[in-house]
Amino acid sequence: MELKIIVLTLFIIAANAEKVSYEGYSLYKVTPTRENHLILLKDVQKKGVGEFWEDPLYLNYEMRIMVAKENKVLFKSMLGKSGMVIEETIKDLQRAIDDQLKPAQRSAQDSHLFLSMNWNQYYSLEEINNWLDEVEKNYPTIVTSVTMGQSFENRQIKGIIINYRPGRNNLIGMLQGTLHAREWITTATITWIIKEFLTSTDREVRALAENFQWHLFPVVNPDGYVYTFTTNRMWRKNRSTQSFTSCLASGVSNDLSNGVDLNRNFDYAWMTLGTSDNPCTQVYAGPAAFSEPETRAISNYILGLNREGRFIYFIDFHSYTQLICISYSDVNGTDVLLAENYADMYEIAARGAAKIENSHATRYRVGVAADILYPMSGTSFDWAKYAARIPISYLIELRDLGQYGFLLPPEQIIPNSVEIMDALLVMDKTARYMGYYSGSQSIICSFSIILIGVLVALIN
Ligand SMILES: [Zn+2]
Repeated sequence: MELKIIVLTLFIIAANAEKVSYEGYSLYKVTPTRENHLILLKDVQKKGVGEFWEDPLYLNYEMRIMVAKENKVLFKSMLGKSGMVIEETIKDLQRAIDDQLKPAQRSAQDSHLFLSMNWNQYYSLEEINNWLDEVEKNYPTIVTSVTMGQSFENRQIKGIIINYRPGRNNLIGMLQGTLHAREWITTATITWIIKEFLTSTDREVRALAENFQWHLFPVVNPDGYVYTFTTNRMWRKNRSTQSFTSCLASGVSNDLSNGVDLNRNFDYAWMTLGTSDNPCTQVYAGPAAFSEPETRAISNYILGLNREGRFIYFIDFHSYTQLICISYSDVNGTDVLLAENYADMYEIAARGAAKIENSHATRYRVGVAADILYPMSGTSFDWAKYAARIPISYLIELRDLGQYGFLLPPEQIIPNSVEIMDALLVMDKTARYMGYYSGSQSIICSFSIILIGVLVALIN
């Protein structure tokens, strides 16, 4: 009996270790607009006809479905009668995956080599961590490397602190990437920001770099990130095996029951909206809030920083769909005012988005997730806003709008990063004018209300 279990376990490990090939797969875009569309999509998933980038939970939300060659006819016939428009966005998925690993061709003057990294390609976890060490070694008085904790598979969650004024700086900002493993562009964006903070001669970049103690974590889900390189490019969750189970009834591979969606595992409105208690889904919230070592590490780190100084900015980068999401993600309508500085956060984000659109013609939308994406609960940025009282907390969904989605070509790393840096500069300037550096934003807010009152009185 024991031998059988060992053989079965080895078989499962071997099956999981094999690299998933998407040869012959196409990627399709569909938008469910009626309840029966969602029922139909759930049926497609349950029968294993398509593999979903996200679970079919929301109406009017553009979804991506990967379909193997042998299932394409059945897929089209199942959805064909529903009236849903099916659009093939990537013809050869494996080729798009392979292409993403080929460095972009750029002229020498467009190259942005900084130590061992450039932004013409995506890097493995090992390469990123080595580069962080290199950065620390080259800027010993400004940069300190830091490990916020260990992952489920015991990898370090590594980042760096950039502090130009040690001992004097009490303004704190934190940026994190790849909470969702497959969203590679988020990691490249954070390493770009690190490079800019250390090397840019632009006056505004210098001010943003030097006014803050920055805590920058390119990969907060290291196990998932490694898994996207070694085994399954489309992996989203962490690699926890605690809830391993058969997914036969869900129509997905049993491997999907491994892992928790880390951006549903934080202790803010946990397990209420846009999430699932079924381990065989992409949005599995975990057996309990903070059940995962990665979310515990992030939250403990944030609480620790909060005791050290004035923690003003927290940004959790994701991809894709080009959005700046404002807390809180489980509300809309007038309930958005539950976030006491909602209007400020909206204004700051809107100015950032306007800058991106005016300077780079890339359109970002701004709002609460329930309005511009879908309602969510248990997210890191909502928890940071709610539990750690960080005044300005965003989730930013980077490029693109779905043409490549998670497979954003390396040619777009630099344009993406440049426009985000431009947005951050404008957002910071706006927050500074509003008084967030001095903690006097409430005074400014009250002053504005009095001023508006006086003007209304004068008009009347
Ligand atoms: Zn994400």
